[in-house]
Amino acid sequence: MTDFQSLGLCRPLLKAVEANGYETPTPIQREAIPYVLKGCDLLGLAQTGTGKTAAFGLPLADRLLADPEPVLPKGTRALILAPTRELVNQIAANIRLFLRQTPISVTSVVGGVSLNPQIKRLSRGTDILVATPGRLLDLVERGAVRLDTASVLVLDEADQMLDLGFIHALRKIAKLVSKQRQTLLFSATMPKQIEDLAATYLTDPVRVEVAPAGRTADKVAQSVHFVARADKTAFLTDLMVQRPDDTALVFCRTKHGAERLMKKLKAAGIAAGSIHGNKSQNQRDRAIRGLRSGEIKVLVATDVAARGIDIPGVSHVYNFDLPDVAEAYVHRIGRTARAGASGDAVTLCGPEEIVLLRQIERLTGVTLTIASGEVPTRPAPGQSKPARPPRRPRSQNGSGEAKTGAKPRRPRNRRRTRQDKKVA
Ligand code: AMP
Repeated sequence: MTDFQSLGLCRPLLKAVEANGYETPTPIQREAIPYVLKGCDLLGLAQTGTGKTAAFGLPLADRLLADPEPVLPKGTRALILAPTRELVNQIAANIRLFLRQTPISVTSVVGGVSLNPQIKRLSRGTDILVATPGRLLDLVERGAVRLDTASVLVLDEADQMLDLGFIHALRKIAKLVSKQRQTLLFSATMPKQIEDLAATYLTDPVRVEVAPAGRTADKVAQSVHFVARADKTAFLTDLMVQRPDDTALVFCRTKHGAERLMKKLKAAGIAAGSIHGNKSQNQRDRAIRGLRSGEIKVLVATDVAARGIDIPGVSHVYNFDLPDVAEAYVHRIGRTARAGASGDAVTLCGPEEIVLLRQIERLTGVTLTIASGEVPTRPAPGQSKPARPPRRPRSQNGSGEAKTGAKPRRPRNRRRTRQDKKVA
């Protein structure tokens, strides 16, 4: 038997944990499981890859098993909300692994796929429903699901749900779930809005924090190459050609930038795929399966599409573009070094991105190791002018691709606008 026994989980779940190869609970599991079993509300502060899903999934399953109440048609006994389709599917798959030998049913619903099969699946009711907020509300409005039967509500990656504008959906959904419910809220970072959300929806929550908000995984080696934006594609291609055995996730700021970079990598003979908002759900699933199976070695992604995805064996995360929001860096690099493995996070920083780099270092408390290039002089406050002029004109789409044609000149007496800064 494993260390999980001391946490108070029932026998069928202990067996499932063992069959799954989990020997020792992760810190968030050790801290959270006993409280969730007791029925407490919980605010879990944990970065991605720390074993959060089992931290709420196991005790939730335990509580449902202990109380074998029948599920009402269209009803659910527990509701788990997550920001992206990938994360919903991943949570459902992870929880199903523990429930294989039990009668507990798990259903997932996400947007981007047809409604009718979901309506049909929900008609009989389900023990656990995992959903993205938008699709769930759609189904509620169509009368396909009732939430008043849910006695547990889990909000996973709550900070990202807010970033994606789900706050109104969350408010509506929380009102529909039974008032007597247990609420669990997980977030990797703790902005003020999450504090407010927690204060509104949680009752006397236990706060469990396994790493200070914004702290990056200890086992990720973090480095930075200072590279002019126009040179980034060639630079990254070279790095990847030299390291054919790595499994890498590459983050770009825009969908078009991600797609273009993926094509350039493929043209250089690298087995690459992409996931971003312009890809259908089937294409995204195929790309993730491809990376998992080793069919592709590099997945180029935007932040939203890659949020929460768990691909074991990602050895490198590349920040091709720095994220606009420092917190996103923590999520990005959390895609490697998952569940105790080690990993590398490599950032390509252009001179105009130095301010963003410093914000990340302030948030994480980590100074990135300089792997190559020279530190550009920091632009004056309010300016994002590069320390050295780029060799070629740049695109405005954050893709890192050079555009042909000369940069339009700014009249001397006109102040810089945001658009000028982007061009620079
Ligand atoms: P999560 O943070 O829930 O996405 O989990 C990240 C990864 O860690 C997943 O691949 C889990 O299967 C794995 N994992 C979670 N808990 C444990 C554990 N106690 N021992 C080993 N692996 C785990």
